[in-house]
Amino acid sequence: MAYFRSRYHVAIVVWWTAFLAIAGLAVLLNAHETLDAFFLQYDAYQLDELFVALNVGGALGLVYSLLRVRDLLEEVDRRSEAEAKVDRAKLHDCLTGLPNRQMLNLHLAGPSGGQANNEACVAYSIDLTGLKKVNDELGQSLGDAVIQTTASRLSQLEPSDLVFHLGGDRFIVLSKNIAAPDFHSDKIMQAIGQPIVEYGASIEIAANLGYAAYPCDIDNRPGLSRAAECAMYVAKKDGPNVTAAFTSAMAALTRKREKMEASLKAAINADAILPYYQPLVDLKTGAIVGYEALARWKTPSGSFVPPSEFIPLAEELGLITRLTSSLLLRACRDAASWPAETTLAFNISAAQLNDRQLGLRILKILDETGFPVHRLELEVTESAIIQDAESAHFVLDSLVRSGIRIALDDFGTGYSSLSQLAQYPFDKIKIDRSFISSSEHSEKQNQILQGIVSLGSRLGMTIVAEGIERESEMRKLTELGCDIGQGYFLGRPAANITGPPGSHMMQAQHRRL
Ligand code: C2E
Ligand code: CA
Ligand code: CA
Repeated sequence: MAYFRSRYHVAIVVWWTAFLAIAGLAVLLNAHETLDAFFLQYDAYQLDELFVALNVGGALGLVYSLLRVRDLLEEVDRRSEAEAKVDRAKLHDCLTGLPNRQMLNLHLAGPSGGQANNEACVAYSIDLTGLKKVNDELGQSLGDAVIQTTASRLSQLEPSDLVFHLGGDRFIVLSKNIAAPDFHSDKIMQAIGQPIVEYGASIEIAANLGYAAYPCDIDNRPGLSRAAECAMYVAKKDGPNVTAAFTSAMAALTRKREKMEASLKAAINADAILPYYQPLVDLKTGAIVGYEALARWKTPSGSFVPPSEFIPLAEELGLITRLTSSLLLRACRDAASWPAETTLAFNISAAQLNDRQLGLRILKILDETGFPVHRLELEVTESAIIQDAESAHFVLDSLVRSGIRIALDDFGTGYSSLSQLAQYPFDKIKIDRSFISSSEHSEKQNQILQGIVSLGSRLGMTIVAEGIERESEMRKLTELGCDIGQGYFLGRPAANITGPPGSHMMQAQHRRL
């Protein structure tokens, strides 16, 4: 726009210069006398009137074009202003008014014009914890107020053009002061930890912080925010209210993680993660009554990545819904050819208990594959439920209303097992493998195991024992009254369910002997 504006100025200057030059030339050449003589000579043609008319017309044309130029310049100004607003909106967060991640990247890469910025600085990556709880329990407006207050507190520590809101509960603060970053990070944490009083409610928010310095910790400035975030993830694992400084070992971790993220995305896109099936055996009859689908990711090199690694990563990357839908679709199609009434147990992760559309998604898959709802059983862990109990309650209720059965997985490894049993309508509890393996050697564990079995039975729930690796364990669990067993002794997870219908019972009985 500035280009157009200067072009109009140039046009006006050229016009005036040309006008003055012609006028000067006319004076020099005595044009007036020459014209007068010419008009007198050809008076019959009324040339003088014509000349005056042309002059007046020209003068009016000049006034008109000047007015047009002024209008155009105003239009240029309006457009420049609108474009500046759009640019600002693209680079700033509307809730806090702070610069966003795009601006952070531009800032770290260097000023516009392509010159690299080599100025030393420290990046502090901050992740607020408990914001979701504030949103859910106290309302979105209080959640927004927490973010705005945090933004203004951080802006008091550093100029606001160096405080970046990356969205949600994430901030990055850049500081040109590279001395004592540990002291500075303490100041940031203290500022965030002060209670926030809004609408009469006092909210205390926790955070985790990671920091990295350029050039001492990392030699490329654009990678500084990534390094600080990597340190923040490490802090978050031990959090809340933990601070971690970036180390070179973390750099290797970051690279590994980035590689893993890329391959996981590719694997999910290529539907390369498949369900394997592990039998669930009726301990009284020895019949296989169902199978648990366990996700298996075989990399192109032929090795398997364990689900305990890629499921949490898929959750973090927001890919869990896609991954689960494709696994469930495949599992339901496979299970449709199993002997009648054989159940399919399917694991649901913590993040999915926040997805209020989960029930609808599952019903859609059942509808698409024709797999009967009563043969599906979803396994949820108690630690997943307590992460966001309100949302989990909503999702579980909607699943139960749809006729889907729910099993409480890894029972005994969480903190609130008994209260979970009272709150939710579980059909099954799956006793964690750690109880099974230790019960043989510890009388106390054995007593607890007995207690769990009788409690579950009294509540009308089916009891499943996981991780049975030995015949002695299986006999003991059968004597204790466990209904169903699962473990390597009874069958390992496999890609296919082999054998004709009816062979299920024989297979399991054969194992028992
Ligand atoms: P889980 O649901 O408790 O699954 C049982 C795990 O124990 C499986 O590990 C299974 O292979 C293993 N296992 C079974 N019997 C034995 C045994 O006798 N001895 C021993 N040592 N292990 C046994 P896996 O497949 O590595 O899965 C680990 C966890 O990953 C699962 O624990 C589940 O929480 C999660 N997971 C697996 N597949 C999925 C999935 O499709 N979606 C979700 N959300 N989570 C999944
Ligand atoms: Ca399970
Ligand atoms: Ca389990």
